[in-house]
Amino acid sequence: MDNELKKEIINCSRCALCMEVCPVYKVKKTETSVLRGKFLQILGLIRGDLKFDKNIKYNLDLCLGCKKCKTACPSDLDAVKIFSYVKSEYMNLFDKLFYGSFAFKLKILSLKILYKIKYPLGKYKNKKENKIKPKEKIAHFRGCATKAIGTKFFIPYEFKKEKFSCCGLPFYVKGRIDLYEKYKKRNIDLIKKYDKVIFDCATCFDTVKSYEELTDELKNKLIYFTDFYKNKNLKSNKKIKIAFHKPCHLDNETFNEIEQILNNIENVQYERMKGFDECCGFGGDFFIRHPKTASNLSLNKADNIKKLNPDIILTTCPTCLWSLKFGIKAKKMNIKAYDLMEFLHYFILIKD
Ligand code: SF4
Ligand code: SF4
Repeated sequence: MDNELKKEIINCSRCALCMEVCPVYKVKKTETSVLRGKFLQILGLIRGDLKFDKNIKYNLDLCLGCKKCKTACPSDLDAVKIFSYVKSEYMNLFDKLFYGSFAFKLKILSLKILYKIKYPLGKYKNKKENKIKPKEKIAHFRGCATKAIGTKFFIPYEFKKEKFSCCGLPFYVKGRIDLYEKYKKRNIDLIKKYDKVIFDCATCFDTVKSYEELTDELKNKLIYFTDFYKNKNLKSNKKIKIAFHKPCHLDNETFNEIEQILNNIENVQYERMKGFDECCGFGGDFFIRHPKTASNLSLNKADNIKKLNPDIILTTCPTCLWSLKFGIKAKKMNIKAYDLMEFLHYFILIKD
């Protein structure tokens, strides 16, 4: 393993601050499921005291990639990166195939079918909008989960449906760093062709923004779709109470911008719910690999939604939306869940 990473692991002081924030630990309550416990297992591997077996593999896989521990850790340890490198080192041929591009495409296809059966999208009236022809060349970054769930993308600008690759995160967290690097390179080459690239998924946005090779100039081209709404006069035709689930990968700046937008819509009562920024549990395809842990977190989230009792719960990540719908359905709550983009497009009028 990379010497720098080994040094990083040794920097863990076992202070347990990660326990306070780790969603997996909140459900599992075992030392082996929390970061410092996982680092001890990795240290055991490095020193040769432990052998990589199915238990260690399982424990390392018990991570939602939410990065909450990184914010809490006084040693600034990056768990997602460390797990990714360890997984890549101990990956066998079966894992390589299972976490490869072809298997990923099959997973996305099955998610698409499953989602359509379980949560068919409502039929909306097509809202006509005059599309502005911008001076700049704009492209839309359509992520894999957005494609699977089928949320539509709306901004009143003409833009190009560019064929970006997956942001790479699903491969990175499984240890397929080779594929992550490949997709990253392709995406950076495509970003260079445009003046602006617009995102509608907090996770893709966060992943692409954190590509180490991106220059400041390229980073400035990356825009979240809410940018379009931030200085507009917005109105709902009827009074509605709204709550918002903050995806783990949504940066605070964009989150503040979203809250400002929601607070400024006429006839909309926006309130922060308890645990608004706690992980919903789905973490990409984590819910397929660890359904019990994922559904527990999703049900906790649903309980917090219930306490506030809004008419609508919003989010801005397709797998979070799935998790919200799962919790709401399981708890038989009469609350609708929408992607923020669809909500702003279909329920909200732009007054000027
Ligand atoms: S917060 Fe950081 S230093 Fe503290 S136990 Fe967790 S990983 Fe180790
Ligand atoms: S990334 Fe999230 S789930 Fe993974 S160890 Fe850190 S806090 Fe826990």
